Amino acid sequence: MTAQTWRALLKEKYQLSLRLFLFLNAFSALFSIVSPLYAAQQVTLPLTGVLVGSTGLLIWHALNSQRRININLVSLLFGLMWAAQIALKFTAIPKPDLSYLLVALLTVLFIGSLSFINNLIAFTCHCLPVIVTVIWLDQAQHLMRMAYAVALPMLGIAIQHLIQKRSDTFSQGLMLKLLEEKETLTDLSMMDPLTGLYNRRGFQNRLEHVLALGTGQHFVMLMDIDHFKAYNDHYGHMMGDQALTRVSAAIRDSVRSRDIVTRYGGEEFLVLLTNSDPQSARQAAERIRQRVYDLRIPHMFNESVATNVTLSIGIAPLENQDIDSALRQADAALYEAKNQGRNHILFSESRHAA
Ligand code: GH3
Ligand code: MG
Ligand code: MG
Repeated sequence: MTAQTWRALLKEKYQLSLRLFLFLNAFSALFSIVSPLYAAQQVTLPLTGVLVGSTGLLIWHALNSQRRININLVSLLFGLMWAAQIALKFTAIPKPDLSYLLVALLTVLFIGSLSFINNLIAFTCHCLPVIVTVIWLDQAQHLMRMAYAVALPMLGIAIQHLIQKRSDTFSQGLMLKLLEEKETLTDLSMMDPLTGLYNRRGFQNRLEHVLALGTGQHFVMLMDIDHFKAYNDHYGHMMGDQALTRVSAAIRDSVRSRDIVTRYGGEEFLVLLTNSDPQSARQAAERIRQRVYDLRIPHMFNESVATNVTLSIGIAPLENQDIDSALRQADAALYEAKNQGRNHILFSESRHAA
């Protein structure tokens, strides 16, 4: 998206410099007709060509702004027409006049450098025919003076090019850095800071990708730590957080990397098992239950009964891409699993305890 904006900006700059070039040519041709340096031969074919050509192209370009015009070709064409105009006019002047040649040369250089301050090729296409013609008409008598007039804008353009390049590199670097930071922020906004698992937003994002693929059978596993309120009350919130982190890691380690493990609420987790089958789903749930049990985090939730931190799991298949319905079923199964004594797994479809 941003790379596209960048390219669009470059294209716009390119087209704007073309319009400026055409406008300056039209203006200059009109001025040469209305107020010529010498009265001799005011309206010539090349001059008319410049005026009609530039105005015509300007109008055409305004109507077809999506069509791209080749700047180098256009600038060469106008350069040739100006060269012809200068040659015609010079031969029509009674006696050879250096100042006419210099004014003509400077005008063309001026138009070229104003329009193509960043485009040495277009500048050269536009100015070279005139430079050659003027030197030829002058019979190379004032070569140094002309070389000076040409070298100055060329040096300017070369330096401008360097400046622009630096500025482009800087802007592009800045853009890439911003994009990277945006990506990092997006990633962070999808993660739960305590457990490093996905949060609900992250889950939604990953789910959309999975559903977009459209194939395979997926299962939703909703799990909830048993009697966690009592754990907090007994061991304190800090220990509660530690237990949550360890349980999260145990869940993450029990499933494949392509499964989506989410901290769905305070001590509730949601795992989407992707491309699986009922038996594997059951086995995955059992692995999780056992692994959490095996952490052997002491939990004396009752004065008389000492046990470990455990969790209960409700499983439901994801059908017709209807995640809400699958979650409702898994939640009901989880509720049942809790009722059946906790540290328990229940499969929504069969309603048989695993
Ligand atoms: P049940 O077996 O029915 O699920 O009982 P429970 O006590 O786990 O159920 P309940 O939903 O009533 O309690 C959840 C408790 O989890 C409440 C809160 O103290 C604790 N908890 C939720 N989020 C956090 C957390 O981020 N850190 C800590 N330490 N505790 C949390
Ligand atoms: Mg709960
Ligand atoms: Mg609980």
